[in-house]
Amino acid sequence: MANAIYSGLPTTIFTVMSGLAAEHGAINLGQGFPETEGPEAIRRRAAEAVLTGSNQYPPMQGLPQLREAVAAHFRRWQGLDLDWRGEVTVTSGGTEALACAFLALIEPGDEVVLFQPLYDSYLPMVRRAGGVPRLVRLEPPHWRFDRAALEAAFSPRTRLAVLNNPLNPTGSVLAEEDLALLAEFCVGTGAVAVCDEVWEQVIFDGAAHRPLMGFPGTRERTVKIGSAGKMFALTGWKVGFLVAAPPLTAVLAKAHQFLTFTTPPNLQAAVAYGLASSDDWFAAMPRDLAASRDRLANALRAEGFAPLISAATYFLDVDLAASGVAEDDMSFCLRAVKEAGVAAIPVSAFYEENPVTSIIRLCFSKRDETLDEGARRLARARDLSRRA
Ligand code: GLN
Repeated sequence: MANAIYSGLPTTIFTVMSGLAAEHGAINLGQGFPETEGPEAIRRRAAEAVLTGSNQYPPMQGLPQLREAVAAHFRRWQGLDLDWRGEVTVTSGGTEALACAFLALIEPGDEVVLFQPLYDSYLPMVRRAGGVPRLVRLEPPHWRFDRAALEAAFSPRTRLAVLNNPLNPTGSVLAEEDLALLAEFCVGTGAVAVCDEVWEQVIFDGAAHRPLMGFPGTRERTVKIGSAGKMFALTGWKVGFLVAAPPLTAVLAKAHQFLTFTTPPNLQAAVAYGLASSDDWFAAMPRDLAASRDRLANALRAEGFAPLISAATYFLDVDLAASGVAEDDMSFCLRAVKEAGVAAIPVSAFYEENPVTSIIRLCFSKRDETLDEGARRLARARDLSRRA
């Protein structure tokens, strides 16, 4: 028989909603992907590398030029001092990097602190690795934790704390003091922090990303995860990075060598080029996305919806209850995609227990016309839900 953890799993909410969007010809503001392609120069590099470069196995840890470029990028943008040889591993996306961290670092019975809402791959992978989840529940509108919440979740048996910052699905960014508090708990209990920071470049309004790895005492006990897919709006490429001190990197690489072993060499070469040549892109991309966020927020407000604040990611959340929708998020999303032709993601899908059920997530990395029409269709869905 199948493994019990896996046989009981639903298909991801992103796949379900994208499937319904295709079936019903709906505008897809659900799954998080840009409507336009990433930088052409980077895509050209990938194409050229297939024709003129090696298409055989690259080194297991990743192409040296990409590992060097990753270390240089984080030095420049986040002030981290990294040795590319011993501290950077290239993975097939952030999802593989997370799996490596869980498989390599969890012993059966270890406690793992996680924050709800959480990305859907975390809990099944933590459990499959034998971890015992200890959940901290975050709530709208600020999605913050406090000392009491961490005191209730951390224990001497805590092995890992898993943080996603900026946070998908909320588009929120943790305050400096909250990061310092979490760092204090990791250091105090001896836990390793697994930091899913794939949205680190998709951060708006001039804010700078603060990596947990930069806080006192965390440098040796943090696994930092990044993703070229999010950095360059190339979500299908699945090129990610694991960054950690040498003893952690050594064991992470043991997991990586038996998960995917390597990542396509042409994509690695193109990402290395991108990291070294994209200052303009890293300035323009968040500016353009913030304009899309504002366009969607304004269109929604004009229709009487109540959007929450989005400081990062591709996502703007909407409070249904405050927008005059009495239905729960899942019912409303199913109605919206089937009856009004617009797909969104119910945030309750990101909770394991005691879900917040009145928030939906909308992806705004789309053209203006798509966003405008999406807002109109959401208003139609609300009308239909009122009449039902
Ligand atoms: N990261 C994407 C999102 O949050 C989903 C990726 C996937 O479909 N697994 O929408």
